[in-house]
Amino acid sequence: MTPTLLAASPLNPLFVKALQTKYSVIGPMSHDALMAHPDRELIEVIAAGGESKVPASMMDALPALKLISVMGVGYDGVDVGHAIQRGAMVTHTPNVLNDDVADLAIALMLSVTRRIPQAHQFVRAGEWAKGGLPLATKLSGMRLGIVGMGRIGQAIAHRAEAFGMPIAYTARSAKSNLPYTFVADIEALASQVDMLTLITPGGAGTHHMVNAAVLKALGPKGYIVNVARGSVIDEAALVEALQTGVIAGAGLDVFENEPTPLPALLTMDNVVLTPHVGSATDATRQAMADLATANINRHFAGEPLETPVPEC
Ligand code: NAP
Repeated sequence: MTPTLLAASPLNPLFVKALQTKYSVIGPMSHDALMAHPDRELIEVIAAGGESKVPASMMDALPALKLISVMGVGYDGVDVGHAIQRGAMVTHTPNVLNDDVADLAIALMLSVTRRIPQAHQFVRAGEWAKGGLPLATKLSGMRLGIVGMGRIGQAIAHRAEAFGMPIAYTARSAKSNLPYTFVADIEALASQVDMLTLITPGGAGTHHMVNAAVLKALGPKGYIVNVARGSVIDEAALVEALQTGVIAGAGLDVFENEPTPLPALLTMDNVVLTPHVGSATDATRQAMADLATANINRHFAGEPLETPVPEC
């Protein structure tokens, strides 16, 4: 019999395509529709994306639940504690997206300091013949602070070395194998750098880690780039800091309310925005879909899962 899987939210088409070769995929659907579904009691697997919400109520609707496979490295929308309590495993897709997210972090650093969107618009609008653009800010040599020195943080650091950027970082613990300066306190880190880049998980542990005090410490020549999760920054405090010159600018891929960032961010000249596209290339999304599917295949084959989240 073809196993039925539940999609927690609309899934990436590459994930759906990979799953449909072996499984019947239902959902997303309302709680009531799920409770009434004829296959509900047989469903062992929830397939999810990095931004999916998988609450306890969804898990509890599925008495046979054994696995939640997330196509994404971040899984802050999954109630992992409840999954463990239910005896279900959670998997994600680490490493295969490191390059893309690190590339985007560097792209946002360059875009906001060198004002690339404004320069592009300047040429397109036919302004060039009338005169030059105001000078921009040099990125190479800037002091970089990385918040979160995990897989992607290290990929960002590796790239930043080529830009001659001295690197300091914060994380829950110092990494003795890395040649970068550890600063335990994020406010102290912000006060020592020109560019602060965020690449931690979201969730309660990092909620509003960047607040008004951290932005003040970063200072009027400081920039912030967020490729982590919107929840890591107090977005209202960020808007105020950008409007009042407390910091110089921001490059943002993630927002507290996606897909609707605070309206003020949409019109500010010192902000560059991308719509949560850190891992959004054909090659990487395919690799993520393949890994998320491989974890499901392993579950049904009775083999060890490839990439369980650390809590499991
Ligand atoms: P990772 O290897 O687990 O690294 C996470 C880093 O964050 C670790 O260095 C960890 O510290 C640090 N950290 C965690 N909680 C912290 C806290 N409360 N205070 C300070 N530091 C903390 O994860 P990764 O693979 O690099 O991915 C990081 C995150 O990037 C994901 O969880 C996701 O939210 C985000 N992401 C975004 C996109 C996008 O499209 N923009 C794409 C992929 C990932 P320790 O090392 O000391 O434990």
